[in-house]
Amino acid sequence: MAYVINDDCISCGACEAECPVEAISEGDGKYVINPELCTECGTCADVCPTGAPQANN
Ligand code: SF4
Ligand code: SF4
Repeated sequence: MAYVINDDCISCGACEAECPVEAISEGDGKYVINPELCTECGTCADVCPTGAPQANN
């Protein structure tokens, strides 16, 4: 499983810079996480100002 960014994303880019495996990129209207790269470390959720990255259990 991987983290998923929900519609609360405001495309600030903070998470992309902090992801240790570079799984995050800018998508259409919000940032997106590549599930094949995400290690569920939770860093993106920690740095996000809106709580958009969610654990996808
Ligand atoms: Fe990157 Fe960690 Fe967020 Fe997965 S949980 S997208 S590895 S920062
Ligand atoms: Fe979107 Fe949060 Fe990432 Fe900023 S830190 S780009 S609001 S998911």
